[in-house]
Amino acid sequence: MKKIALISILLLSFIVKNSYSQHKKLYMPEHISECYQNGTRDYSGKPGKNYFQNYSVYNIAASLDPPTRVITGNAKINYQNNSPDTLNHIIFNLYANIYKKGNIRDWSIGDADLHDGVNISALKINGKAIDMTSKNVTNRNTALIIELDDKIMPTKTADIEITWSYPLPAKGNIRLGTYYETSFFVGHWYPKIAVYDDLVGWNVDTYSGQTEFYHDYADYNVEITMPKEYIVLSSGTLTNEKDVLSKDILKKWTASKESDIVTNVITAEDRKKTGITKDADKLTWKFKATNLPDFAFATSNTYIWDATSLLIDDKRILINALYYPENQTFNQVAEISQKVIKMLSETAVGMDYPYPQMTAFHGHYGMEYPAMVNDGDGDYNSTVFVTAHEITHTYFPFYVATNEVKNAWLDEGFATFLPKIIEDALIENNNSLQGIVDIYQKYMGTEIDIPLIINSDNTSGFAYRYHAYGKSAMALLGLKQAIGDVKFYKSLQEFIMRWNGKHPTAYDFFYTVESIAKEDLRWYWKPWFFELGYPDLCINTVDIIDKNYAIIEVKKVGNYPVPIKITTVYKDGYQESIEIKASIWRNEREKYFFELDNIQDIKQIILGDDMIPDKNKEDNIYTFN
Ligand SMILES: [Zn+2]
Repeated sequence: MKKIALISILLLSFIVKNSYSQHKKLYMPEHISECYQNGTRDYSGKPGKNYFQNYSVYNIAASLDPPTRVITGNAKINYQNNSPDTLNHIIFNLYANIYKKGNIRDWSIGDADLHDGVNISALKINGKAIDMTSKNVTNRNTALIIELDDKIMPTKTADIEITWSYPLPAKGNIRLGTYYETSFFVGHWYPKIAVYDDLVGWNVDTYSGQTEFYHDYADYNVEITMPKEYIVLSSGTLTNEKDVLSKDILKKWTASKESDIVTNVITAEDRKKTGITKDADKLTWKFKATNLPDFAFATSNTYIWDATSLLIDDKRILINALYYPENQTFNQVAEISQKVIKMLSETAVGMDYPYPQMTAFHGHYGMEYPAMVNDGDGDYNSTVFVTAHEITHTYFPFYVATNEVKNAWLDEGFATFLPKIIEDALIENNNSLQGIVDIYQKYMGTEIDIPLIINSDNTSGFAYRYHAYGKSAMALLGLKQAIGDVKFYKSLQEFIMRWNGKHPTAYDFFYTVESIAKEDLRWYWKPWFFELGYPDLCINTVDIIDKNYAIIEVKKVGNYPVPIKITTVYKDGYQESIEIKASIWRNEREKYFFELDNIQDIKQIILGDDMIPDKNKEDNIYTFN
């Protein structure tokens, strides 16, 4: 047995700037700070007593014509102004106008998908027709801004009726579109009233492709009319399956709702003949959903359909997978999704999957919608990654409607970090956490490495991705290591409970974690979320006092705090390590000393390891002569 050689000498660490009182508060832009003064937000991390949110009920009837890909819809919307403000405008997001000729886009789109913009053939507000050519109507890229003659007063509602049409893109390049000629993923497809919140009032950020969305909650009654043999599934619950599905298909689907086994509701053989749906030229599929931030649907006359279900507490969650008969691994997606939902509910988030169903659609890449995902088909590992990632989005930004335009890291960071334990469970020899550290380390301190608190729409290209996914996952991993698993998951769950159905900011997350961890964590938030920089520790000095004894100084060269891990390598090959949590660097400490006994037996000391990012690893090794 070796004598434990590492004894930290805290007393020698005299560079401690005392501390709490000298800490400045986290930087906060003025408009957010005003929300705390106005009581819509609270420093406890809970919604403030004056928190408000506007709410809509959408009654939509729509149809899609497969040969032309034209979607036509009519929506009757009841919009409730719960804010204390008089609304002089109503703003719709017409996301499909990203395909309008001449509009701003983050990347080029083939001519085949460009169109003349969403055609609004009628708009009535409180019974009054709006002249779409009048000066009260402004089209700003994807935003449709209507100046109101009759303002919407606080606590009052407005009844809006809008009729629109546009062609869906021929390809599925940006999150939605046409796949295998006659299969469609239809998202961001109806005029959606923009968010009016306590932070900025109307959110008029237009959509240009890269940064995603921000939605208020709504109830949906949606009717989709399609030709026969087209099946339709959506973010909502199908309420008239008896009217649209043939007897055989309905029987299989109904059975799957009570079974953990995957049922092939529509097989490739079924698709070779007709009789999937009832025999009528057109069929109307009716859906209902409550308190969702958005509503998507998918439809196909060639896809096959797997279904299963899963008991979570006392509710069975229905899981569907729709995919092209010739596929690589999509025939495993229903089962993978079932495992993902189980692990999210039990461990990875530790809170029940919140919706009655989840439908995975075989498209391109990966995109999340409430209770739906539109994912590509790849090898088994990539299918697990994309399925786990996109379903994790159920919690953020849907069950908790974070603002993806401004804080993409809040949803993408969680959706990258939280499913890591699922990926490791489903993929042999996978080490997801190492992947997080490696990606972060590769680009840390480069010009694309931007503080997480910077709004996502102020980043672009790879900097956006690194910010939203790579750096955020590392910051969350570091947080979990700093406060420990118990406090991390308790904080996460509390954040979800406090903010489900609402719009938290990054600060609401920071304050919730502090209230649960019962720790002032500014030592962590400030560098990792607000400052440019990176972690870098070094072995600064080794004072050999005598042949048995040395004092080692570890210096924090970089501004981001990381744990100190010291490994002692003995001349006989034996190694031992100690690890000190990153919180050792709180109170602006810059140096840490430890003493080493029996140095005549020691060959080397090594600072850090592969799991601790460090900008310069060359000064992390000291070899004794
Ligand atoms: Zn994502």
